[in-house]
Amino acid sequence: MGNISTKPRLLLFQPPIYDFALFDLFLKPYGLLRLGRWFEESGYEVFFVNGLDYNDKETNSLLGKPRRYSNGTGKFPRMRIPLPHGVDSERSFGRYGVLADILKRKVKDANPDIIFVTSGMTYWYKGVVEAVGICKELFPEIPVLTGGIYANLMPDHCKVSTGADYVVTGNVEESIKTVFKAHSLPVPAGEIPKGPLMLEEVWKDAGVLRLNEGCPFHCDYCASDLLCKKFIKGNAEIAFEALLEMHGRFGTSNFAFYDDALLVNSEQSIKPFLELIIQKDLQLKFYLPNAVHLQFLDKDTAFLMKRAGFQEIRLGYESSSRDFHTDYDDKFEEDDLFRVVETLESAGFSKNKITAYVLGGLPSQQWKDVEGSIKTAASTGIRVSLAEYSPVPRTPLWGKSMELCSFPLDKEPLFHNNSFFPMKWDCYTLENMKYLKSLVQKLNMDPGS
Ligand code: SF4
Repeated sequence: MGNISTKPRLLLFQPPIYDFALFDLFLKPYGLLRLGRWFEESGYEVFFVNGLDYNDKETNSLLGKPRRYSNGTGKFPRMRIPLPHGVDSERSFGRYGVLADILKRKVKDANPDIIFVTSGMTYWYKGVVEAVGICKELFPEIPVLTGGIYANLMPDHCKVSTGADYVVTGNVEESIKTVFKAHSLPVPAGEIPKGPLMLEEVWKDAGVLRLNEGCPFHCDYCASDLLCKKFIKGNAEIAFEALLEMHGRFGTSNFAFYDDALLVNSEQSIKPFLELIIQKDLQLKFYLPNAVHLQFLDKDTAFLMKRAGFQEIRLGYESSSRDFHTDYDDKFEEDDLFRVVETLESAGFSKNKITAYVLGGLPSQQWKDVEGSIKTAASTGIRVSLAEYSPVPRTPLWGKSMELCSFPLDKEPLFHNNSFFPMKWDCYTLENMKYLKSLVQKLNMDPGS
């Protein structure tokens, strides 16, 4: 049966995820849905298949309803599956998301003219392979484009492993326009909008906002500047409108910031944004899945954040070692952490709502240094989170990671997963990592000890 609508049909596909563990800390296909809005505004009929839909009734009736929390975070449906070939681990492996047969049916129903499949972490690529495979099995002649983090960081691997027709990297708008022209599909007009496609099932429990794009820093372990070539200052009014749209349409009251550098350029972006929130008095809750820069967290910002409804603050501390910051990121002032904790406390944040990230497991890093950083951060009385390093292709630390790692990182992205602790060595063993994790747990139970 032919399509009743004469509009071209575009399918957006969020793949399921394969991993050892997965928690939904505001994991939304924000970039994909911004594309969706662009196409909708350009006259396309846009369909979205959400491989991570935690409300899918059929999946949940078979796998059990995942535990969710009132702030919009929680678990995804999980199916235990065998470890991938060539992978050895004592932990069980899982496929998270909507069951494959259900995804197939949804893709079939969309009957698309063109398909976009997004991607996240490089080590989640098996889900992208599955998603593209479903599309190609059902619609072998329909062009499939992949984009997102994995596609950008490993385009050749992505092309070969998924069998997608196109891997969109670099200038997304230009690449897309070229592909659409080649397939005689209407080329979307203008620029990709700042706000995403409005879908109640995605945004009701928690919305996502982004003020600034990219990050002006260039830390050796991070891919931010590879994924967003230049730092683009945010606009408070535009972000506020996006928030009002979600809140007005779906009653969304939890919002997570996706910024890599939320507090940079604060006079023009976050501060006026927070003032708008306070004026409107909407009783909203804000979250920070990404850490903020210590040096930009001043008194005014802390007070505005508290009054606007920030529920927690995550701080990018990484290490107490001056050498670490000289070597890798250059974003450290000796007393920043102590000053910021004091400032946040005076603004009304309790210490158990403040977390400092400490980075562990970098190539040739020693566990003793990480222990020192954990203890220094914990001595302020706040919580500590041990961020375990994952090697990221094309970052400055990638070469050293490949050189020192016993796994074939360039051939098999599954080994980028920090669950394997790919950079373990004599002065930072798996046992050391386990000890550091238990130390963090202990200190978080008894803060300030
Ligand atoms: S400051 Fe944060 S987001 Fe920016 S490059 Fe460094 S780690 Fe990445």
